[in-house]
Amino acid sequence: MNKPPKKKSPASILAALEKREREIGVSRRALREKERTLATLMSNLDGMVYRCRNDEQWTMEFVSDGCFGLTGYRPQELLDNKLISFEELEHPEDRARVRQEIESAIKEKRRFFVEYRIQCRDGEIKWVWERGVGIYGRRGSVVTIEGFIENVTERKLSTQALQQAERSFRSIFENATEGIFQTTPDGRYLNVNPALARIYGHATPAELIGAIGDIQHQVYTDPIRRHEFMRLMREAGNVANFVSEIRRKDGHRIWISENARAVLDEAGNLLFFEGTVEDVTQNKIDQEKLEHLANHDPVTSLPNRLLMNDRLRQMMLNGQRTKSIVAVALVDLDHFKLINDTFGHNRGDQLLQTMAHRMLACVRETDTVVRLGGDEFVLLLSGAGRGEGMSQVVQRVLQAISRPSQIEGRELAVSCSVGVSIFPRDGRDVQTLLRNADTAMYKAKEYGRNNFQFYSPEMNTVIAERLEMQTSLRTAVENEQFELFYQPKIDLVSGRIAGMEALLRVKDKEGGLSLPDRFIQMAEETGLIVRIGEWVMREACRFNRSLLDQGFAPMRVAINLSARQLTRYDLVRVVKQTLKEANLPAECLELELTESMVMTEPENVILILGQLQALGIELSIDDFGTGYSSLSYLKRFPVTSLKIDQSFVRELDQQHSDHQNAAAITKAIISIGHSLDMKVIAEGVETEEQMSFLVKNGCDAMQGYLFSQPLPGAEFISLLQRETKGDGKFALLQQLCATLRDKAAPELVVDASNA
Ligand code: C2E
Ligand code: MG
Ligand code: MG
Repeated sequence: MNKPPKKKSPASILAALEKREREIGVSRRALREKERTLATLMSNLDGMVYRCRNDEQWTMEFVSDGCFGLTGYRPQELLDNKLISFEELEHPEDRARVRQEIESAIKEKRRFFVEYRIQCRDGEIKWVWERGVGIYGRRGSVVTIEGFIENVTERKLSTQALQQAERSFRSIFENATEGIFQTTPDGRYLNVNPALARIYGHATPAELIGAIGDIQHQVYTDPIRRHEFMRLMREAGNVANFVSEIRRKDGHRIWISENARAVLDEAGNLLFFEGTVEDVTQNKIDQEKLEHLANHDPVTSLPNRLLMNDRLRQMMLNGQRTKSIVAVALVDLDHFKLINDTFGHNRGDQLLQTMAHRMLACVRETDTVVRLGGDEFVLLLSGAGRGEGMSQVVQRVLQAISRPSQIEGRELAVSCSVGVSIFPRDGRDVQTLLRNADTAMYKAKEYGRNNFQFYSPEMNTVIAERLEMQTSLRTAVENEQFELFYQPKIDLVSGRIAGMEALLRVKDKEGGLSLPDRFIQMAEETGLIVRIGEWVMREACRFNRSLLDQGFAPMRVAINLSARQLTRYDLVRVVKQTLKEANLPAECLELELTESMVMTEPENVILILGQLQALGIELSIDDFGTGYSSLSYLKRFPVTSLKIDQSFVRELDQQHSDHQNAAAITKAIISIGHSLDMKVIAEGVETEEQMSFLVKNGCDAMQGYLFSQPLPGAEFISLLQRETKGDGKFALLQQLCATLRDKAAPELVVDASNA
């Protein structure tokens, strides 16, 4: 049974009520205090706290003061969505996404986070970050949503800027034409760009990074380069234009240039290296080409003088160390100028190339063949002993050079003259060795070319002699210390003197005479030939006039011309003038030209010769067969006779090993001459056998010791007088010609000494 409740006294009830009231007051105060704190907190938040219903419009039930700062709307204006709903502030492009995120979070009962843009009252677009949560009722359905929206525009913009920067750096990295890398000190790749992968022959950066774990041995062809790289990094912290050869994936070697630096952490510890790589293979090739150009001759690709100086110095140093010798052989092609002038520079260059190859084939790999320029080459040979081995090499070169070569389908025989000086015997520096080799080479030329000479100190006197000769030639010109000798030309039909050739002699101090071979070349080199030539023409014309005056039948005097007289000088005017002064008919003068002279500038020469012919003088080609005439030009030259060179005539004798060749050439010249309507004369006829051959083969005239040597003017006159008188020797000669022509040669001897 239940006990009836104990009755409480009104006072105690009052007291209890008062107590209760006090308690409530305390908790209300506490609540108010809490609310105030909350309100302070919320209004200080840089953002807006909200609570809304989970209805269609997300009607706002609470909006904190932060709303104003964030959106420009007052909380009351958003409360109950009075003026505008928060969703309407959301950027139209973001709205659907925001809704979807919040709804799915609420459905899944999780917190939501969403970033999007809002448009503020003043139109400004801000980035906000909203996070919130659904508040669920007892039955588990969502009652409200509470959340916080904060302004993250600044952060967002700076991240965007950062991303933008990152994107553009990435693009530079990805699209650079230079390779970019980060590598570890132990030689692996951390990061490379596509360009580096491409330069190293890999398909992708990843492939490169995966394939190379040891830069030193897998990349550099010379692993020492990596040591050098590391050393520079240690010492300077960077490398600049560090050029090395590397191996690509396919094994190909290329040249790269690296610029890199060491990247350190704050404590100064090395983290990695980073830098760029450029493929400089083409530069390297270009540079090598340039260097090659500077050090080599463009025509033959042989080393030039510059490189020679260098190599010779090296070889001398080496020679000193190993007690061996070095030979400097100066090789000069004989008469190369003639070939160049006749065939043109292209063919001349071709010939130089051929000769260069031949010389290279004669020497060892350690030797050097240099082209000094023009037709001059130098061989640098190293060896032991006193040069015996060298002379074998030089001998081989002489043989190789003189092998016939083809130019424009024609066979050409070139020879060379070689002078050799030896280090250390003949000199201890480049200059001296070259000078002495040059001296020896001149000696070789003097010995008739196509030979070689070792330098000897006495040779220096040769140089001195040349200088002396130059001086004396000049004085000879000043003082007209000249004399003309005349050699008769014999008509092989009539056996009579048909003309004469004037040959120059120089009188020396002692009253002796020197032959033109010794001074004509020098006169040409020095230009003195022009004055000498004028003197010769004057004197020859004067002499011939005097013969006319003495009543001799008119005959021609032939004078020899030099190239310089023909083309670089107003020859036509001088000839005209001289004939006039001497009062000599033009028919009494003949000019002898050589093949090389007329073939040098044929078109120009044809003009000049035409003018000379128009004056009425005769023109002939001397030493025919030694140069390189073009038959088509020959036809166009107004030339009236060819003189077969004495080298062929000399070899016509049976005793001569080459007589068959000489005979064939002589016959050919006679027939060419005749077919071009020219007379053919043989020079240097010394034997009856030669004469007999010439007569039998229809040669028109001859000149030579067989009948007479060149004679001083007075002696020539007495020879003419003897002929006029019908001297026996002349009668014999005439008879001989007649019978030979009938191919029944009697045993007649023409004694030249008596003639
Ligand atoms: P060249 O015009 O061919 O003259 C012929 C040379 O052969 C002459 O030599 C002559 O003495 C020589 N000779 C003649 N008959 C015989 C012989 O039977 N046997 C041999 N072995 N030789 C013979 P030289 O007088 O010493 O003249 C040499 C060259 O010098 C000439 O060759 C000519 O090219 C040149 N020369 C001579 N005088 C002059 C001149 O006044 N002006 C120019 N520019 N050159 C000249
Ligand atoms: Mg002559
Ligand atoms: Mg001649």
